[in-house]
Amino acid sequence: MIKEENKNIIAIDGPAGAGKGTLTKKLCEYYGFAGLDTGSLYRAITLCLIEIGHDMEHLDEKFATETAQKLSDTHEILTYAKNPNIRSQLTNKYVANVAKIPELRAIMRKYQIDFALFPPNLPDGRKAKGAIIEGRDIGTVICPNAPIKFYITATAEARASRRLKEYLDRGESASYQEVLASIIKRDETDSHRASSPLKQADDAILINTSENNKEQTFEIAKKIIDERFKIILT
Ligand code: C5P
Repeated sequence: MIKEENKNIIAIDGPAGAGKGTLTKKLCEYYGFAGLDTGSLYRAITLCLIEIGHDMEHLDEKFATETAQKLSDTHEILTYAKNPNIRSQLTNKYVANVAKIPELRAIMRKYQIDFALFPPNLPDGRKAKGAIIEGRDIGTVICPNAPIKFYITATAEARASRRLKEYLDRGESASYQEVLASIIKRDETDSHRASSPLKQADDAILINTSENNKEQTFEIAKKIIDERFKIILT
């Protein structure tokens, strides 16, 4: 029997710290969709390279790509993606350089498209009613035909404050100025790379979360999804 392709796809893109992850989790729980945080895949590869002692200041793109292929073939990437150290300041420092390698992105692309078309069951075993994929190039490159696309953004200052709180909650010391500089640098790398840069898709709905709390952003997105998916989800 041929498995039917999922069409209920929500693409969420935006810069670091804009609130994509929280929104994705809340929407997945509410709608019974499976969620994929694609940043965690690039972070997983970066963490693996750091752990094996690769010289991250002089990244060997061929070696990084081979490592990504191996992690993907063995599914070890999913284990790394669950490691809390993927969110450390060190991983944050290097991840955008790893993610800009075109050949490495091509390996990750297949995994993401498969997830969107054939989402896995939910943690409680129920069949997922759809998929939410979040990242930087989901609405533009990975799922250009997604029926709903959001571009979530916020000022660099608001995003830096949120990231700083995350680090302090994790017990890492950090200063606001350092975090702000790191966020601005990563935005720059992500937006200006040649291979699928961070960009709002023409048909994506923009939500600026600078002044919103998590609940307010969720309510804005929910209203839009309810209107668009009225028929599909009833
Ligand atoms: O979303 P998050 O901040 O966890 O992503 C970490 C990094 O992974 C981004 O700064 C970007 O360099 C890379 N990334 C990407 N494409 C995606 C998701 C993340 O290049 N779809």
